[in-house]
Amino acid sequence: MSKNLTQRSEDYSKWYNELVVKADLAENSGVRGCMVIKPYGYAIWEKMQRELDRMFKETGHQNAYFPLFVPKSMFEAEETNAEGFAKECAIVTHYRLKADETKPGKLMVDPNAKLEEELIVRPTSEAIIWSTYKSWVQSYRDLPLLINQWANVVRWEMRTRLFLRTAEFLWQEGHTAHATRQEAIEETEKMMNVYADFVENFMAIPVIKGIKTANERFAGADETYCIEALMQDGKALQAGTSHFLGQNFAKAFDVKFANAEGKQEYVWGTSWGVSTRLMGALVMTHSDDKGLVLPPNLAPIQVVIVPIHKTDEQLSAIGNVADELMAGLKARGISVKYDDRTTQKPGFKFNEYELKGVPLRIAIGPNDLENGTFEIARRDTLTKETVAMDNAVEYLATKLDEIQQSLFNRAMEYRNTHITEVDGFDEFKDLLESKGGFLSAHWDGTPETEEKIKELTKATIRCIPLDRVAEAGKCVFTGKPSAGRVLFAKAY
Ligand code: AMP
Repeated sequence: MSKNLTQRSEDYSKWYNELVVKADLAENSGVRGCMVIKPYGYAIWEKMQRELDRMFKETGHQNAYFPLFVPKSMFEAEETNAEGFAKECAIVTHYRLKADETKPGKLMVDPNAKLEEELIVRPTSEAIIWSTYKSWVQSYRDLPLLINQWANVVRWEMRTRLFLRTAEFLWQEGHTAHATRQEAIEETEKMMNVYADFVENFMAIPVIKGIKTANERFAGADETYCIEALMQDGKALQAGTSHFLGQNFAKAFDVKFANAEGKQEYVWGTSWGVSTRLMGALVMTHSDDKGLVLPPNLAPIQVVIVPIHKTDEQLSAIGNVADELMAGLKARGISVKYDDRTTQKPGFKFNEYELKGVPLRIAIGPNDLENGTFEIARRDTLTKETVAMDNAVEYLATKLDEIQQSLFNRAMEYRNTHITEVDGFDEFKDLLESKGGFLSAHWDGTPETEEKIKELTKATIRCIPLDRVAEAGKCVFTGKPSAGRVLFAKAY
């Protein structure tokens, strides 16, 4: 099983695709660009959802649901947004099929069932949501509106990749409306911080918070905030975005409110989203040549117990000890599985749980029963320790915390050693090929230079880091003046 996994050093991209499939996270479907998320992968996504949902509610948001289809005229209302997504839209033109008389057993689109107005399958829901907000907002007392929806969206992506970029993907999209510019900006920043907190503390993935350049900004936004992560192969991944929409959608959909003085004003908006792409980030940040490595917070099974026995009596004695251990772990909120299948050998099970990234594995054999010990193996470091049974629950709980922290530290160490300051363009190109990672370089601030660099090197500006220090310098490409460094990288 795991010995068939392509090694990362051989072909990182192949390793990733194989791992996603072999670890039972997802597989390609018969539909171009669309994947099937399998139960094990979905269980991890559900854990992400649960925690994010909790964080959204804690920050005052409520869930709602809006339609999948957006009438074309409604979609067009905010022009920049519509133009930005136009190239990747799926469009419904008909609502009925009929028997094809020239081809027995086949169906054809019924030409008499043409829709009067085409429907766009939502690539994002600003249009439908803002057209609804028009009737929800009359006075300043109706604000703020703090809404989130869990949904699927469709973007007709040309190059797709399991989780990282699919044509249909699952996500959440927050859409908020505020009385003032300041409040909307605060919301945009707050949600970027919620994402950063979640990705760092729950997924153990360090991120850089920043602002996108005009080229990379969300279509229809005045400002896009983002969190950027670095994968093990030195490529960056946009892990989440939070957009300040200004009054663009309020003007397009005529969403006004009467302020405290009774004067009509346009509402200020934000939107923010993270998607199943985070599953890809998880795999690409922590996993190794033996398979998945899951941070305990996201592991569907945190501890697995494998009995090692020859006789039925031994199995039954081990079962008794395992029951007691499981009760102790469950009482601590730790998810545990006892794998007493007799159809598979222990070695097979060990490989399987390694491949699936279960953080801690306990082997219990007859000798352990005699000695009052367990052998505990740690997935992230592949080390083993023998622990006294009496201490086991405490030990395991502590280890899970330690693993969570240690995965973050490891990823942080990698990330920090892969941010390089560069001042010359030859060095820029060399480093991009030899080392990868983020290149911190001066940029003259023009979209033309950004485009040119992308054309020549495939590197894009991932963000203008929020914590950058003002430092006058010269653009790495044109030599023109620059007010500070930005982060370039090749990205997924
Ligand atoms: P956006 O609405 O473009 O700001 O994207 C919202 C979130 O969805 C971001 O975290 C993106 O990284 C992610 N995302 C965008 N396109 C895709 C895609 N094709 N597949 C998966 N995730 C995506």
